[in-house]
Amino acid sequence: MRDSKFISRRSFVKFTGAAALGASIIKYGDGLLTAGEAHADETPRPKTPDEALKKIMDGNKRFVDSLKKSPRRTIEVREQTAGGQAPFATILACADSRVAPEIIFDQGLGDLFVVRVAGNIVNTSNYGVLGSIEFGSLVLGASVIMVLGHSRCGAVAGAIDAVQKGAEFPGSIDNIVNTIGPAVEAAKDEPGDLLENATVANVKLGVDMLKGSVPVLADKVREGKLKIVGGNYDLFTGEVKIVA
Ligand SMILES: [Zn+2]
Repeated sequence: MRDSKFISRRSFVKFTGAAALGASIIKYGDGLLTAGEAHADETPRPKTPDEALKKIMDGNKRFVDSLKKSPRRTIEVREQTAGGQAPFATILACADSRVAPEIIFDQGLGDLFVVRVAGNIVNTSNYGVLGSIEFGSLVLGASVIMVLGHSRCGAVAGAIDAVQKGAEFPGSIDNIVNTIGPAVEAAKDEPGDLLENATVANVKLGVDMLKGSVPVLADKVREGKLKIVGGNYDLFTGEVKIVA
């Protein structure tokens, strides 16, 4: 451990190096996407947060209507993107096997920066999740972040059991469930289905936490360079609704 300071400084230098590299990748990525426009079914890379949000919501509509294009999944795109990535959106989704962002938003290689964790929780002590999301916007240039909950989420159901019945879960699962506890508390007096309401409340908590996250995300939101929204995915219909 005696070298820890040295190591962290080296890591920092590496990170700032990555930032510089990221900037050039973004530039490079734009060039790649211009080349990609040669494909009839490609759309240009979004230039604003609103355009980025529209692009993923348009993709979800294609998925719902079974008109998906499965864009940018060719050998050519694979080889082009091997040189660098410039995803336009970050999705924080549940680890649930039925909620794969690239599929439900009908996007391709290099389009989405995806962070997945059970219950799509944003926990400031979970540096892996927050740091990844920050990296997606600061270094890679994603201009929209969506926190994505979904219907019948087992993690949220577990949190309801913990709040209402004092249920406990083994290992680190308990930590995930307890992180969702405040969302259950916030939703428990609302009319309607508690699981659905708590899922939406959990998404809203995540969005608020990210919007207020300093120094990286809050600044970008204030400057209008980043939009942070919440979505809720219906497992049955395939539709994502904006809820925050
Ligand atoms: Zn889930």
